[in-house]
Parts: sequence; C-alpha cells; structure tokens
Amino acid sequence: MRDTLGLLVFTDLDGTLIDHDTYQWDAARPALAALSVARAGVVLASSKTSSEIKALRGDLDLRDWPAIVENGAGLLPAGAAPAKDTNDYAAIRVALEGLPPGLRRHFTGFGDLSPEALRQITGLSREAAELAKDRAYSEPGLWAGTASELARFQSLLQAEGITMREGGRFLTLSFGRNKSDQMAALVQTYRPRYTVALGDAPNDVEMLEAADFGFIVANPKRSPLPKLEGEAEGRIQRTAQAGPLGWNMAILDLLERLDLQKD
Ligand SMILES: [Mg+2]
Repeated sequence: MRDTLGLLVFTDLDGTLIDHDTYQWDAARPALAALSVARAGVVLASSKTSSEIKALRGDLDLRDWPAIVENGAGLLPAGAAPAKDTNDYAAIRVALEGLPPGLRRHFTGFGDLSPEALRQITGLSREAAELAKDRAYSEPGLWAGTASELARFQSLLQAEGITMREGGRFLTLSFGRNKSDQMAALVQTYRPRYTVALGDAPNDVEMLEAADFGFIVANPKRSPLPKLEGEAEGRIQRTAQAGPLGWNMAILDLLERLDLQKD
C-alpha cells in the first residue's frame, strides 16, 4: 500500500501556472521542486485538449499524475496515455448536425474550422491550432445568432444531455462535467491529506471552493473574480503577484504552513 499522499495540487494553466503572455513557467520552478521533494501530487486542470497538455505535462515532469482536460469534460490518465475515447465529442457533433439548419448555421465549432481558420480566430500557431482541434470531450465555438435563437439552441441540445457554458469568447458544449467534478473523483482515488487549488478565472471557482486551500492567482489581464465564500475565513487567498510568480509564492508558503517541506 502506498503512503498517504500529503498534498494534492489542482492547478489551472493559462494565467495561473503559465504566464499569460510569455507562456513561461520558470518562476514556479522552486515550488515545483519543493512539491516533488514533499512527494506531493500535481494535477493540471485546463481548457486545453489532451494533445495540448501532454507535452507540457512532460516538460513539467508531471507524467505520473493525471490531468483534467477540456475544462473538466475529460481526464488524461497518468503515465502513457491510452487511445483517447472520443465518443463524447462524436456525440456532440452528431447532436449539432441534428439541429434545424437555421439554428445550426449560427454555431461555428472548432470542428467546423480548418486549422488555418482556427489560427486566425485564436492567434494560436498553426501547429497549436491542430492540437486544439484534436478534441475528445467538448466542442467550443462561436455563436452568431440572436439571444432567443441561442436559448432554443441550448434547450434542443439540453434534450440530448449536452450542457452549454459561456466563457470568454467561446460557447463550449459538453456533457456537463467541470473541473471540480474531475477533482472530486481524483480526491476519491488518491485520498490526499490536503488539497489545494489554484486558478485565475470563473471556470476555476468551483475547484477553488472545493479545495482545502484555494489561491486566486492575480491576473492583471482580466477583471478580478468576485469575492469567494472561503475568503472571509482565509481558506481562499489571493496572490499579490501574477501567474507563475504568484503560484510559486503561494505553494512555498502553503508547504511551510502545513509543515510539508520534507517527506
Ligand atoms: Mg486561467
């Protein structure tokens, strides 16, 4: 039987562990090294696809931990990934094609776009756009219809069990699981003594609220999150510095507070 896991970290990527602009995470190296010494686990949790996360997880030396992908709609297992199960994505695409054409034409999903068209919309490189299109669990897209058409679109998809979530510029369709649903399942599996979550955006809130400790990582590029419930009691804190710098400080402080610096 393995030893009790002291700490399991759940972290968003963009604007949290990874700098929003430079895509660097060097500033978080000291905390990542301290987590490794403390034998803590680190679960990456992002809107990215498995294909997008896989290389980064390797660079971060976190292959031994699963990653939450597509905003919680799916999970990239620990270790060498088996063939992806793309049934959810296929079912979403089938449901889209079953909609009345007058509604369907207002939604442009990643699956409707060539890598070049997606590159132009997102500013991703051509290669990154291809990885972002390699989806298994959810379909982001742009909406061009009216609000009432959107309500109809939503209710027809809901009848198929598909949930719509608005975030930033994209509407994302999935079967409803979010980052904190995956987190709850992983906590059941690993049974850590403590959990900590770090994030910068509305799609991280459920995860921040579900963890024993939460850190809202400052992101000067977006309006700050509203005050969360755990903040008054100090369970959720805000970092002063943005991105990986804030992440680094938060984790080092927490390891010290929990006396987990060493194994
Ligand atoms: Mg983020």
